Amino acid sequence: MTGHDCLWKEGFRRTLSHHQILIIGGGAAGIAAATSLHKRNMSLDIAVVEPSDTHYYQPGWTMVGGGVFSQDMTARPMVSVMPPYVTHIVGAVATFQPEQNQVTLQDETTLSYEFLIVAAGCKIGWTAIEGLEETLGKNGVTSNYRHDLAPYTWKLVQTMQGKEAIFTQPPMPIKCAGAPQKAMYLSCSAWRSAGKLENINVTFCNAGKVLFGCATYVPALMEYVTDYGINLEFGSNLVQVDGHNQIAFFLTASPGEETRIIERKFDMLHVCPPQIAPDFIVESPLASVGGWMAVDPQTMQSTVADNIFGLGDVTSTPNAKTAAAARKQAPLVAENLLALMAKKAMPKAYDGYGSCPLTVEHGKIILAEFGYGGKVMPSFPWDSTKPRRAAWTLKKSVLPWVYWNAMLKGREWLTRVST
Ligand code: FAD
Repeated sequence: MTGHDCLWKEGFRRTLSHHQILIIGGGAAGIAAATSLHKRNMSLDIAVVEPSDTHYYQPGWTMVGGGVFSQDMTARPMVSVMPPYVTHIVGAVATFQPEQNQVTLQDETTLSYEFLIVAAGCKIGWTAIEGLEETLGKNGVTSNYRHDLAPYTWKLVQTMQGKEAIFTQPPMPIKCAGAPQKAMYLSCSAWRSAGKLENINVTFCNAGKVLFGCATYVPALMEYVTDYGINLEFGSNLVQVDGHNQIAFFLTASPGEETRIIERKFDMLHVCPPQIAPDFIVESPLASVGGWMAVDPQTMQSTVADNIFGLGDVTSTPNAKTAAAARKQAPLVAENLLALMAKKAMPKAYDGYGSCPLTVEHGKIILAEFGYGGKVMPSFPWDSTKPRRAAWTLKKSVLPWVYWNAMLKGREWLTRVST
């Protein structure tokens, strides 16, 4: 099989095809891993299993919801980002057989491998919140976590006539943990510019107990919370939405109190649903107790089988689940896998780097960059807790370019990793 072949043909079904390296998922992490491997050894036989016909630049969805990017800037046909030197298998993995070095697709095709890389992302629990799915995109209910809904966020912000705006955050982990509040700050910034903010009650209902996971950035974010007059509700978890009557139901757990359901009326509701690994990972032998793919947090090697690696949102590692993390992990996984292939010690250790550009107002960003244990790891020689125009330019103009033209092409910029 050469080049850009698709195996989604009747004749190939249920046959066994073998690849030296099989990658599951052609998202940010999967494509970056493929290109990092090829960059180091052009003779590798690499296949990527990916069911979707569209590749999304998800970090752009916050900017779509804030009226800065158009929706089409954040999506490209999958075939246009799939490297020409990999075999693209259009299909979805259903089960793993690590003892046989095999995976089985939903159409029952079996694929075997020498090395496996799992980069299947995470599953957004739209159905975990009763009544949510049927009301998304109408009745003032939106989410920047879906490509087709982010423009509705901006439409609601622009047309907001009501009084109550609620932004929700589920229990961690979620991808881009700052995204729920990024949506809120950009909305507040737009309402302030339009002279509407004083007439809107903005509430952040956060299932957790802290505003942001890396404590260093909390004081700077609190200044914006105070300045915008945002009402913070911690321990408040969205469990049901009545879109028709515009009522949201929260399970609340205040310290020292019984848990109870609180009803909140809304005119605009921005929802971030809970997230977990995809079902086929949760139900697989590769899963950790929590359902995420179990990997060593330093080497990114599976704890179940030595010839399997994981990267991106799907893994159990306690880093911020971001494309920035995947950008760092891809060359590291490539180096460690190739060392293993050459029967050498794995040379690279992941430090947990992840980045979250917090869009605190239109034109300014607090660029949170941190690793395991909340260790602040700024890429630039500046105080990263300060809101900056330069960081906005980075997010608006530089990072999308780096994503499409470097990260997905094997040009490993902004990827320094520890050894
Ligand atoms: P994905 O990019 O989601 O790719 C997973 C791929 O696996 C998909 O293509 C999917 O189709 C495929 N797949 C699924 N199931 C199967 C199967 N059964 N078989 C084969 N393939 C399968 N990150 C940042 O760095 N900065 C930001 O500012 C930022 N903001 C964000 C804002 C929002 C609103 C969102 C939603 C995300 C944001 N992120 C941000 C996070 C970032 O987009 C993700 O961390 C990144 O996309 C993870 O890459 P991934 O490859 O692990 O997952």
